[in-house]
Amino acid sequence: MDKLVIQELILTSVTKENYSKFCSALEYLNHKYYIDSEQLISDYDYDILFKKIEKFELEYPDIDSSQSPTKQIAKGAQASFETVAHSAPMLSLSNSYNAEDLRDFDDSIRKELGVVNYEYYVEPKFDGSSIALLYQNNKLVRAATRGDGAQGEDITANARKVRHIVAQVDFNKLGYETVELRGEVVINKAVFDKMNEQREEQGIATFQNTRNTASGSLRMKDNAEVKNRNLEAFIYSVGFIKPELGEGTLEVSQSKNIEVLSQLGFQSAHGLGKVCNTIDDVITFCHEWEEKRAHYDYDIDGMVVKLNSISQQMSLGTTSHHPKWAVAFKFKAVEKATKLLSIDYQVGRTGIVTPVAKVEAVSVGGVTVRSISLHNEDNILSKDIRIGDIVFIERAGDVIPQITRVDLSHRMNVQDFFYIKHCPSCQSALIRREGEAAWRCINTSLCSAQNLEKIIYFASKDAMNINGLGKDIIKRFIELGLILDIPSIYQLDYDEILKLEGWKEKSVENLKLGIEESKGNEMHRLLIAMGIDGVGNTMAKSLAKKLSYLLDFKHYSIEQWQSIDDIGPKLAQSLYDFFHSEENITMLLKLESLGVNLRGAEINTSGILYGKQIVFTGFRNADLEKKIEFLGGEIGNSLSKKTSILVVKEKGSGSSKEKKALDYGVEVLTVEEFESSLPV
Ligand code: AMP
Ligand code: ZN
Repeated sequence: MDKLVIQELILTSVTKENYSKFCSALEYLNHKYYIDSEQLISDYDYDILFKKIEKFELEYPDIDSSQSPTKQIAKGAQASFETVAHSAPMLSLSNSYNAEDLRDFDDSIRKELGVVNYEYYVEPKFDGSSIALLYQNNKLVRAATRGDGAQGEDITANARKVRHIVAQVDFNKLGYETVELRGEVVINKAVFDKMNEQREEQGIATFQNTRNTASGSLRMKDNAEVKNRNLEAFIYSVGFIKPELGEGTLEVSQSKNIEVLSQLGFQSAHGLGKVCNTIDDVITFCHEWEEKRAHYDYDIDGMVVKLNSISQQMSLGTTSHHPKWAVAFKFKAVEKATKLLSIDYQVGRTGIVTPVAKVEAVSVGGVTVRSISLHNEDNILSKDIRIGDIVFIERAGDVIPQITRVDLSHRMNVQDFFYIKHCPSCQSALIRREGEAAWRCINTSLCSAQNLEKIIYFASKDAMNINGLGKDIIKRFIELGLILDIPSIYQLDYDEILKLEGWKEKSVENLKLGIEESKGNEMHRLLIAMGIDGVGNTMAKSLAKKLSYLLDFKHYSIEQWQSIDDIGPKLAQSLYDFFHSEENITMLLKLESLGVNLRGAEINTSGILYGKQIVFTGFRNADLEKKIEFLGGEIGNSLSKKTSILVVKEKGSGSSKEKKALDYGVEVLTVEEFESSLPV
């Protein structure tokens, strides 16, 4: 998914039409963050996105949000390490940004507890990578990453190379047999800078920030190398303990835990955190730390406020996403001022024109920033950004910097800002559609900037995945007239390429192989590669299941498009338009004539389930799904009036889905009933 698409969503409101798009965006970000250790947007923006979706789900309880990313962390851990289940889920934290949020949190605690005597323990929120350490009979037997919260990766060998992760601890003496500790693996800031200096000297790429380096290092294959990364751990809680509560000195209160852990030889918030009796104390303490964080030895991105008593914590419990007894207080991101030199405009493959700020180079959080996306016209106008201004750039230890505001006290004779009226590539007039934030160039067929981006997207990993045909090569081939449009990829003159500087027989051969191979791609890839806004992997796959020949979509009416799950009026219109454009059909026919696959699996139109949509609730059954498809049926993602059968685990459970099915007049069957209705 494109970062710009996500940035757009942050500025858009959630509707029933785009709800699934919002969910996919959040899922994608979660996957990147938790599985690939990559952060694409700032924490702040992430929270905006998260809260928007959460709010929408609360406002529209009839929408099926059971699979929503607001209700789970991230699916699937990386495959190269063994996956292990955590003794108890490793959850996220809910966030707060100011005193008011903290007071709201305090109100909810008071209400839920029903008493007024309680205290908080407030400690730094270490910005690294979380880890679960399992001790059995005094020995560290396993260390795991957070993964999706339920299961993580077994990184025991690497964890043994982390400072302050003690291999042997006398828990037996305290009366415990099994203890699972939770902590954060971090890198000291000074040590990190030193590592980067050395890398720079050696001409190796420098690390981006301490957090990504910590999480990447923890998951390295070679554990000898892990030691060189100077990782260390802070332990902040007990995740699981046997025998349970009350037996020993652990698990009485958070402050006591921290103290005992530090006596046992772990590094903890001991001496850093504080017991606070009122929310005012909490607020003051958080602000104190916000002041001194810049000088603290480790990166921290906020404070964690926890109800101190463990039994009170247990009485409040957790949601599937976070504990109800704790909240993170997020610090404001680091800001730097610099001068806005100019605004460039980039034309994307769908014609959307994105303004990009070029600024005087400035280092923010260890990264040199020269250009920053300004997203759209409204963003520029609402912040009153003008060329020549001193602007503030924010980067919260994360990857994408943002311009947050203008320093008006330093404004000197700057000119009014006007968005461009014409496409910087083809000079045609730009338009801004109602309800949209973006200006676009609609000269789709003749705009060379769009053409370039379309070809790049067509060949990219997410689309046709043409090995060896990357961005720079495409640019060069276009300049040389070797590629003109998408179909011409399949008519390349390889003899000419061989004559070019930098090309050898072997590399030409590889390119040819990559291109030839892509001809046999599954139909849904070609559909993705067409670059229709809103048609990503999931949508393309489910569309590909509807027909066995891509061009048959020509015959779909607007109503037919709209009747498909997750397709709202806007997407229906663009799909309809796409398959009604002479130009697009000609291109697809040309691709077909050049050998590109336009066909999917045969659909059994005489099967007994043809034309029927079956929805499962509460479970999935891959064999049954295959059988349904074999019999010509379609699996629906959510229950609607078009559903023919709702298959439930148990009837009469009173679930909202079952009720809705009855309202809609949809037949409800148990798995057994459904299976026995099918031919064997
Ligand atoms: P988040 O991932 O932003 O929802 O925050 C939850 C994560 O904060 C946990 O998984 C921990 O890895 C991390 N964390 C860092 N310091 C602490 C702390 N003192 N107490 C609890 N969690 C912490
Ligand atoms: Zn143009």
